[in-house]
Amino acid sequence: MKIIVNQEKCPQNHKCPSIAICPQGAISQKNIYALPIIDHTKCILCGKCMRFCPKGAFEKI
Ligand code: SF4
Repeated sequence: MKIIVNQEKCPQNHKCPSIAICPQGAISQKNIYALPIIDHTKCILCGKCMRFCPKGAFEKI
């Protein structure tokens, strides 16, 4: 199981607000127009990003 960012739901036009709430520092974004990237070696599947993202772009697969 892992967390992915659904590019159909992420508008990719702002700094990802979920970056700041990830307790593992697992989410990064090259610039405000980029799809956030999740480092699966850091992610502990806590689900905070999924609950926090207003677009529901983080999905567990
Ligand atoms: S599930 Fe938790 S640890 Fe993983 S990217 Fe989201 S907020 Fe970070």
